[in-house]
Formats: sequence, C-alpha cells, structure tokens
Amino acid sequence: MSALLCDVGPDDEVIMPSYTFVSTANAFVLRGARPRFIDIRHDTLNLDEKLIEGAITDRTKVIVPVHYAGVGCEMHAIIALAERHGLYVVEDAAQALGANYRGRYLGTFGELGCYSFHETKNLISGEGGALAVNSPEFAEQAESIRQKGTNRAQFLRGEVDKYSWVDVGSSYLPSEIIAAFLLAQLENEEMINAQRMELWRTYHEALADLEQEGFLLRPQWPEHCSPNAHIYYILTADIDERQALIKHLAAHDIIAVFHYVPLHTSPMGQRLGYRQGQLPITEELAERILRLPLYYELTEREVLQVTDAIREFYLG
Ligand SMILES: *Cc1c(COP(=O)(O)O)cnc(C)c1O
Repeated sequence: MSALLCDVGPDDEVIMPSYTFVSTANAFVLRGARPRFIDIRHDTLNLDEKLIEGAITDRTKVIVPVHYAGVGCEMHAIIALAERHGLYVVEDAAQALGANYRGRYLGTFGELGCYSFHETKNLISGEGGALAVNSPEFAEQAESIRQKGTNRAQFLRGEVDKYSWVDVGSSYLPSEIIAAFLLAQLENEEMINAQRMELWRTYHEALADLEQEGFLLRPQWPEHCSPNAHIYYILTADIDERQALIKHLAAHDIIAVFHYVPLHTSPMGQRLGYRQGQLPITEELAERILRLPLYYELTEREVLQVTDAIREFYLG
C-alpha cells in the first residue's frame, strides 16, 4: 500500500537497509522501483543515517528506515533529510509496535508507517499488518487502495449512494475472524509487551558478565529509544562460533536462529546488480547475530536455562 501511495515506478529508487526482511524491498520492487541498499550501524543494526545523503540521486523517491528489533532509527535526522530533498519516509515498523523514539511511537514519524502482525511479531494475527497514515494527503487514497480500489468506505459512511472502482487497489483488509483474534491482543498490548520486556531484561542481566569478559556482545540502543522487547539477540565473534553455539544450544533442546541473508547478497539482490563486499558492516553482523528464544509464554526459568547453556558454551 505504501508503494502504491508513494506512486513509485520503474524510474524511482528507494533507499533502505540491506539488513532487513524481503518484504521491505518487495513492496517497492513490485511497482518496478529499484531498492538502493545502504549499510547499517554497528550498535543498533539500523540503517546508518549518515549514509543516506550519499545514496540520494535524482531518482530517489522514498527512504525506508527499518526499526530493527523495535529500536528506533535516527528519525529526526532522517525526517530533516527527507524534507530537504523532497522525499517520502515510509517506516518499516514491522517489529516496532509499541516502541518509542524520543517519547513518540515508531511508525508515526514518516508519511507512512507499516506494522506487521505476522506470527513472529509481538502481536499476531497469523498474517496481517497495519498502515499508519500520518499524512492527510494519503488518507482518502489509502482507504480506496485497501478496498480493491473502490470508494466503499465513503459508501459505508453514507457519503455516496453507491460504490465503484475509483483507483488501483487490492484486498488488504483482514477477515472478521482475523480482526477479532488480533483485537483481543491489541487490548492486552501493554501486558504482552511488559511480559516480553521482563524476559528481555532477564536475558540482558544474565549475559552481562559474559559481555564484560569479552565473549559476546549484547544489544545496544540509544538512550532516547524505548524498544518493545521484540528480539533478544547476541553477537558472537564470528560465523564459526555462531554455528558451534547453535549446535550446543540445540543439544540442550534450545532453538536459536539467525537472520537475515543480506538482501544485496541474495540471488535477487545480485540480479539487481549488487554483490558481496559492498556493505561490509551488514555482511559482518549478519554472520554474527544469534537470536535467542523470546515469546510471551516463555518463562523466566527457561530464559535462565538458555543463558546457563550459553555460559556453559563459553566457560565450559
Ligand atoms: C516481519 C517483517 C516484515 C514483513 O511483515 P509481513 O507482515 O510479513 O508483511 C517486514 N519488515 C520487517 C523488518 C519485518 O520484520
């Protein structure tokens, strides 16, 4: 929907990190636009705002900050830059529902903010998402795009006496059953995120000494960010250590996984003209990151079992 609203096409470029899920790029590639991948920051794994300006060309139309793990990108700098160059900002806030940046919810800074309710997120509906339309210029069109390009929303409000095809669009509405399933969680969002935050903190405290002793790195976030405990990850020394740790945890019945294959090194990224070696920080961190189990039903005790197994791996 964002790509349709920003009206991107084959002549346009969209700046985004390569360290993200494929959906970030697909949304725009589906309209024929070219993703312009830039590198990420060492500390947050978010796109490095200092690299944006150098990636802007006369074709650039949109900047897509991805708030990795619910930690905010540097939105003030990004918005200022976008205003100076006349670009749209579409936030990929798929992981950031309920997270704050300088006291304001992520997803509310750009013209558009995209949330996901995919089964891997804090609040889920199996498949699904929400679009925050923060700019009034898009409100009416967004309504018709999500209802198959019709003005059915106006019809339901009694503003027109029949509805018809007014724009390009598709069926982006959740079913009633999916909406009900999600609503129950939205009503308990604070409780769900608070529980996740408890577990997140338990990880963070239990791994502090391993970080101090130089075995691994824990997540970092700027003071002005309040993340939503979407992901708890560690950084290992290198890919071999990560593989060994995954195996060690698996032997303790603990499933820990990594992501992403940087988009610029994926087969599709290569077809778009990118190659290995272009984004060194992305490539390095993608090989070192390991996500630890984190979900609502997880218990404090289980978190400590995970951290004990990690301790055993490093200290024997
Ligand atoms: C989950 C996720 C998406 C995709 O969400 P869908 O609901 O599957 O479209 C996009 N970007 C990021 C960063 C994600 O984590």
